[in-house]
Amino acid sequence: MRRPSLSLVMGVAVLALFTSGWGRTDSRTPPASTKTESRPMDASDKPSACPACGSKESVIPIGYGMPGKEMMDRAERGEILLGGCVVEPNSPRWHCKSCKKSW
Ligand SMILES: [Zn+2]
Repeated sequence: MRRPSLSLVMGVAVLALFTSGWGRTDSRTPPASTKTESRPMDASDKPSACPACGSKESVIPIGYGMPGKEMMDRAERGEILLGGCVVEPNSPRWHCKSCKKSW
């Protein structure tokens, strides 16, 4: 028997994956109340400037969900960025048109 114990290696890898994933999910999961289906576009917590390049005018919100007529129009005018239908807990909410950063 010259091969190392595969089951031991697998066990360590799975354990590491589980613990790191668990810790990240646990610390980043928002309260259940904030995860509503159709959250209205709220710009009240809009950042005053891009954290990467400092641009104030280039920061736009990222809209999630199935885009309707209004969202499409706003996206065409560059007022919002369409993020897609799937919203994940760590999905970016803001986009900078200057440096293309999303956060
Ligand atoms: Zn920027």
